Amino acid sequence: MNFCVKCGEEAEQTMGGLCAACFLDGRKLMSLPHHVDLNVCANCGDIGRGESWVTKDLPEAIEEAAKRSVVPIKEAKVVRTEASSVEQEPYTYAVTVDALLDIGGHAAEDSASTIVRIKNTVCKRCSRQLGNYYEAILQIRADPKNVPHGTVREALNRVENLVDANSVHNRQLFITKSEEVQGGIDVYLSSISLGKAAAKDLADAYCAETKEAFKLVGQTDDGQGMYRITYLVRLPDFHAGDVILFEGRYFKLTRVSGSGAKVIDLMNFRERAVKRSDMPSFKVHERAEDLREAVVVSKGKGEIQILDPSNYSTADLNVPDGAEIGDTVKVAEIDNILYYVP
Ligand SMILES: [Zn+2]
Ligand SMILES: [Zn+2]
Repeated sequence: MNFCVKCGEEAEQTMGGLCAACFLDGRKLMSLPHHVDLNVCANCGDIGRGESWVTKDLPEAIEEAAKRSVVPIKEAKVVRTEASSVEQEPYTYAVTVDALLDIGGHAAEDSASTIVRIKNTVCKRCSRQLGNYYEAILQIRADPKNVPHGTVREALNRVENLVDANSVHNRQLFITKSEEVQGGIDVYLSSISLGKAAAKDLADAYCAETKEAFKLVGQTDDGQGMYRITYLVRLPDFHAGDVILFEGRYFKLTRVSGSGAKVIDLMNFRERAVKRSDMPSFKVHERAEDLREAVVVSKGKGEIQILDPSNYSTADLNVPDGAEIGDTVKVAEIDNILYYVP
């Protein structure tokens, strides 16, 4: 058993000859530097931490910066900290940190204060973006006569969503800019892999044709060739929901995917799969948004009677067995005859 050299009490453990009470008496257990600098991106508001940048609330970041700077004396371990801050003047905050510390198994509290100074700077991503940095150009193109402009915008939306999802984990991925050009939209992207992923995504979603072209634009610092890649994505004229002509028959195109398409024959309502390699021969007969609605007059088994929307005469249409027929149906006209479009 040890005895405290100051008070003479028995102590299981002494620190510098003192019992815990005498050791802690009036002692500063932690300190903070006079000031702590916090890098904040003036463009996007992200907070710098060493080499990396994070998205965080400024008040929280200010308090965390102070907490991280706490230096306990060597006998102490920081168990928990709490901080409160007061803005002293713009970009300058007085922060007090209260800490719970462990000193050789004894809990003790102490507090210290510092000044957190906001340093406005520009994060790496913003400096690249502001500098118009890009490695890939995604050229989304479509025939304006056959593809509505909304489809091109929708494709751009897909790319934006893809970039958003990827940039959560990698801040170097961003869209530098996108601009409308004759026949489509050009999207400038910060990385080649992003361009490749976006081109593949559009190819799968729309069954679009893609082409890529390399261009040597210079050299990196370590002497490697620096390339820019252009990904051309040509959106096809067809779209799910359209009535198409394929191998001499008329079909409703029900599904388009990276591997191929599903179509329903409008004459017999049989479904079939079409390989992707056969899809370029699809001819759009009538676009989904152009299909007309016809009022249903009566329903029978495998057959319905409708009013022809062009002249309001009645017409009989075959429908698939068990089809759910509402008050109106979509119809397509083929060689002057109306067909039910499921
Ligand atoms: Zn003592
Ligand atoms: Zn930034």
